[in-house]
Amino acid sequence: KTTKLAQTVLLSDGNKIPIIGLGTFLTTNKDQMTDLIRTALNVGYRHFDTAKVYENEVYIGEAFQQIFSEGVYKREDIFLVSKIMSNKNEVVSDVIRQTLKDLQVEYLDLLYLHWSFTPPSDQLEWNHKPVHQVWAELEEVQKKGQTKSLGVSNFNVQGLVDLLSYAKIKPVSLQVELHVFLQQNRLIEFCKRANIHVTAYSPLARYTEVINNQVLNNIAKKYGVPVTQILLAFLIQQGISVIPKTEKSFRLKENFDAINITLEQNDVEELKKLDINHRTIQPATFQPFQFIPIFD
Ligand code: NDP
Repeated sequence: KTTKLAQTVLLSDGNKIPIIGLGTFLTTNKDQMTDLIRTALNVGYRHFDTAKVYENEVYIGEAFQQIFSEGVYKREDIFLVSKIMSNKNEVVSDVIRQTLKDLQVEYLDLLYLHWSFTPPSDQLEWNHKPVHQVWAELEEVQKKGQTKSLGVSNFNVQGLVDLLSYAKIKPVSLQVELHVFLQQNRLIEFCKRANIHVTAYSPLARYTEVINNQVLNNIAKKYGVPVTQILLAFLIQQGISVIPKTEKSFRLKENFDAINITLEQNDVEELKKLDINHRTIQPATFQPFQFIPIFD
């Protein structure tokens, strides 16, 4: 194991999160999962991000089980992250029991409340559970040792302020969409002051056409690296962890190597100007959430 690992960030509860992880939203190819994860580990990834709704936890669990049995890596080597929701018909302890069973582990390193409401539905079924109730149930999960850390995802400043007013165990990390084209400065500044680490999801802006940007491309050319590495380095340099997703083994190293880039301050300033508040994940366009001011 001579691979260079990524730096870690100290969370407010004392745990450490590797600054780069592998995203797995839409990675559902069961047959290639073991190879993908083994290659990722060999490249240096230790942080793996999944969620109950990605419907791949069973495959990820099987992959790790296989890899651990090969004897090179063990559970303690990895930082395993999942996310759950809970509506009025569900008990968090039941949901988490299933998650741990699917992933074939005794504990998660970090568990997020995925959204502060129930999954999108076509009907106006208001069966969501109040966040304070879900959070209290999540605190029990941590007390039982089923997760080392707790965080929230897709919360805005208002949601965090509210949560911090009653949480007995504070969220140590916030996972939101974040990239050069959606910098969310106010939210990031708030998290800094509240000692909440930030993890960027869709850090490559999902590789959509928005990244065909001249300034970004020029900077990539200057450093002689792909634009993807500049996108990731911009966040990493701010102490924000990134979880780029790829299910192509050959891209794992390209993304991981973003940890080796140090952007010059003038380039950082140029990249800061590219913020156009561009969201690639738009839950507000799903019924019935279009009425909820989820974000800033
Ligand atoms: P990303 O910004 O990570 O982009 C992923 C897309 O980029 C895929 O289409 C992938 O294709 C492509 N890609 C990745 N690397 C490269 C590369 N080097 N060159 C060219 N194309 C590349 O988007 P995601 O939305 O997947 O976000 C990352 C992770 O964040 C998710 O996988 C998930 O774990 C998490 N997430 C969390 C959410 C939440 O609500 N908390 C919401 C959304 C995401 P390919 O696989 O073919 O390489």
